[in-house]
Amino acid sequence: MADTREILNEREIFDILERTKSPPKEKIEKILSKAQKKKGLSLEDVGYLLNDGDKNTPALFEIAGKIKQEIYGERLVLFAPLYVSSFCVNDCDYCGFHKRNPATRKKLTQKEVEDETKTLIDMGHKRLLLEFGEHPSNTIDYVVETIKTIYKTKSGNGEIRRVNVNIAATDVEDYRKLKKAGIGTYQLFQETYHKETYKKVHNGPKADYERQLFAHDRAFKAGIDDVGLGVLFGLYDWRFEVMALLAHAKYLDKKYGVGPHTFSVPRIQPADTVDLSLPYRVNDDDFLKIIAILRLAVPYTGMIISTRETSESRRKAFKIGISQTSSGSATSPGGYSNKKVLGQFEIGDQRNVGQFLSDILDDNLLPSFCTACYRRGRTGKDFMELAKLGNIHNFCRPNAILTFKEYIEDYASPEIKEKGPKVMDYYLSKIPNKNIKSETKKRLERIEKGERDLYF
Ligand code: SAM
Ligand code: SF4
Repeated sequence: MADTREILNEREIFDILERTKSPPKEKIEKILSKAQKKKGLSLEDVGYLLNDGDKNTPALFEIAGKIKQEIYGERLVLFAPLYVSSFCVNDCDYCGFHKRNPATRKKLTQKEVEDETKTLIDMGHKRLLLEFGEHPSNTIDYVVETIKTIYKTKSGNGEIRRVNVNIAATDVEDYRKLKKAGIGTYQLFQETYHKETYKKVHNGPKADYERQLFAHDRAFKAGIDDVGLGVLFGLYDWRFEVMALLAHAKYLDKKYGVGPHTFSVPRIQPADTVDLSLPYRVNDDDFLKIIAILRLAVPYTGMIISTRETSESRRKAFKIGISQTSSGSATSPGGYSNKKVLGQFEIGDQRNVGQFLSDILDDNLLPSFCTACYRRGRTGKDFMELAKLGNIHNFCRPNAILTFKEYIEDYASPEIKEKGPKVMDYYLSKIPNKNIKSETKKRLERIEKGERDLYF
């Protein structure tokens, strides 16, 4: 087994956090101005920001917002989780699916996968994140069959065009099968990078810290070049976790020439049979600071927020760094058709997709259901190059407009039909490249006439 210190050295992280305590104002100003160059920050720089009190938070948020705006623009990419099986052999302290919970478990049949997928398509979704517990019955062949069922399912004019997957750490052979099944991103969260805490809160095969930490390496070996990292905030000191998450990202970047495609920043939520006496609970202000600091430290890594968070937190987070979000979510297998089954945790944002869209349109954000990069083969390094060349506005903006137009045609309420086109027209006028702008206009007409799935 490889040495975990290749990825992160706990001692070193604690040392940095110690020597960057009480940073002078000039130091912070220097780091904030370095961040504006969008070349990222060192762990040392991040240590200073993490140790800074609240005095400079407005400046931090302003720069995070600016970076978000310059790289990702106004778009917000939408997805929904699809819980496929709640059977789990692990006993993670924080999770409602843990083994100690005696509640009845559910594993979807392929017919149920199809039904749930149709419901999600009819909500307007094009992109799903599959969630499974770890269990002998959740075999890789079952996972692959589920992905195939989803890609085959159609409803009205819609279909799911990108399936991301969140399954327990596994071996290279299984990851190869996932790659072959056509997944978008493979997401796996370390939960906590602090080894002692990790061992304390886990029981079962997942308690193997190394298995979890090197899972993305095995995914890369299997040819998956879009991976997502994450921390479950609330298990250990968030300052340590942010440093470790960044160390992990830097390690992948150095070793494979491409960093993680996304970071997820879940905070622990109440869940059935879960004891929530958490000494490291992250408050709302610190949570936003985490997002802003990550935005400065790795400007080109997408950042995901889920419906664990309330609408108010989410609204603030969108401004300072988040580029992808779930909407209208259920956290139980079969949860989109039957609300009574065991869920993994409680959600904080109960709005349906239509209400959510209405609110973000009021903030002049552009909803995107785009799945183009992955289907055009712009993954891993190729995606990063596109992002770094500032091409997001020439590809992602028109693709957001085209996919939102499909939503308006096929799923929108009268309210969205009224609000949506104004926001769309505004951003259409802001596409930098003239040819792409005029081609987008032509494609919008084609969508009105009934064509679907047009993208750059
Ligand atoms: N079972 C797989 C695993 O553990 O890697 C798949 C992921 S699990 C279905 C999705 C994620 O939900 C976990 O990685 C964890 O971070 C998060 N989670 C678990 N319990 C939670 C809770 N009570 N509140 C918020 N997030 C939770
Ligand atoms: Fe199982 Fe994942 Fe929940 Fe742990 S977090 S109990 S592995 S579903």
